[in-house]
Amino acid sequence: MDNRTDLDLSLPGYVRTLMERLEGAGEEVYLVGGSLRDALLGIPPHDFDLATSALPQKTVSLFSDLRVIETGLKHGTVTVLSQGNPVEITTFRIDGSYTDARHPDGVTFTDRITDDLSRRDFTVNAMAYSPRRGLVDPFGGRQDLARRVLRAVGEPERRFSEDALRIMRAFRFSAQLGFAIDPDTLLGATRCRAGLARIAAERIAAEFLRLLLSPDPAPALAAMTESGILPYVSGDYRPSEKLLATLASAPCEDVARLGLFLAEADEAEATALLRRLKYSNKQLTGARAVRRGSGIPVSDPAQARRLIADCGVYAPSAVRASVLLGNSPREAIGWVERNSAACSLRELALSGKDLLAAGIEGRRIGVTLERLLAAVLEDPSLNQRQTLLALALAQNQPNQKDEKKDE
Ligand code: ATP
Ligand code: MG
Repeated sequence: MDNRTDLDLSLPGYVRTLMERLEGAGEEVYLVGGSLRDALLGIPPHDFDLATSALPQKTVSLFSDLRVIETGLKHGTVTVLSQGNPVEITTFRIDGSYTDARHPDGVTFTDRITDDLSRRDFTVNAMAYSPRRGLVDPFGGRQDLARRVLRAVGEPERRFSEDALRIMRAFRFSAQLGFAIDPDTLLGATRCRAGLARIAAERIAAEFLRLLLSPDPAPALAAMTESGILPYVSGDYRPSEKLLATLASAPCEDVARLGLFLAEADEAEATALLRRLKYSNKQLTGARAVRRGSGIPVSDPAQARRLIADCGVYAPSAVRASVLLGNSPREAIGWVERNSAACSLRELALSGKDLLAAGIEGRRIGVTLERLLAAVLEDPSLNQRQTLLALALAQNQPNQKDEKKDE
């Protein structure tokens, strides 16, 4: 089933020279995986992956004049730095049997490209191309590209039970490429969904984030909901279709999309979900801020300043989320982005030190600064040293100092 067709793809010189050297040494070498898929779609590939019949040690010695990094030698992968560009070269391989729904037990090298292609996940990812040998496409990947369909290589249920991460990859690629998932493939993914419970949270989280960052995440998320797969990602939280439809219009950035996805969750639920998926602290803080801000109505510049005070650097994403959800008018974005008034303690014209010098002490300092900030958010013209000092002293009159003793 070695379907080879003529095709002339333009490959960068730094990739071609590597291929020519391997061919010159009597080996087969092909462009494979996402780089070929993207090239066929007319999307500039972000990196180039090669598959070769050469055993890893031979590849290493063939490129001994270049910088070679032995990335994953036991899986047959070496990275060669060609004119400054890293190119991964992997020996044709067959994965061993799968026992834990993720890790192949062993790797076996092979000298047949079609064997290597048959271990790959989807038909559009299971093609190989060489300028000399043309396109090798044993599973109809090119036709699926044209039909815009994501289809498992081989029997879907077997492939998803070998490695449940492929279920997440199916939805991620479907969203990224705007492809439908073939009905049998979707059925296989649905039947194997329980396997996701055994996949590392970080890997699910990474695929899910890539899905959220796609041009339109809604159809893939709707399919994940219908097939009962979404709970393996988001637990009991189930966002409405209306919410999902807004994601495509949010900034294409981690916390903007994660925070908006969580807009219908409460604080505790959102935090638990982000922690369970092991997103970084920065992603956690940002997504929580965007989620909070998405629920804040901003109908005038003072409210915009309050949102900035609450969400800090995440305010631009938060206000966009609020607008997308219909909680704020469009102008709100401008109020947030063009704001130059003070919105944080740091920007107040009076500091804690100033308060100390004026005889205000202890916990009163923090309390007073917060009150001054609230006043400045309401009326930015108050943000002047003398004005704030007068306000601070008025707030700390003797009767209020008595209050301090009780605190
Ligand atoms: P991108 O790099 O844009 O995410 P990609 O298709 O290159 O897309 P990678 O994760 O880089 O994806 O994997 C490279 C190739 O390796 C895939 O195209 C596919 O052929 C194969 N592959 C990767 N992960 C799996 C998997 N879990 N099961 C089967 N094949 C896989
Ligand atoms: Mg890749």
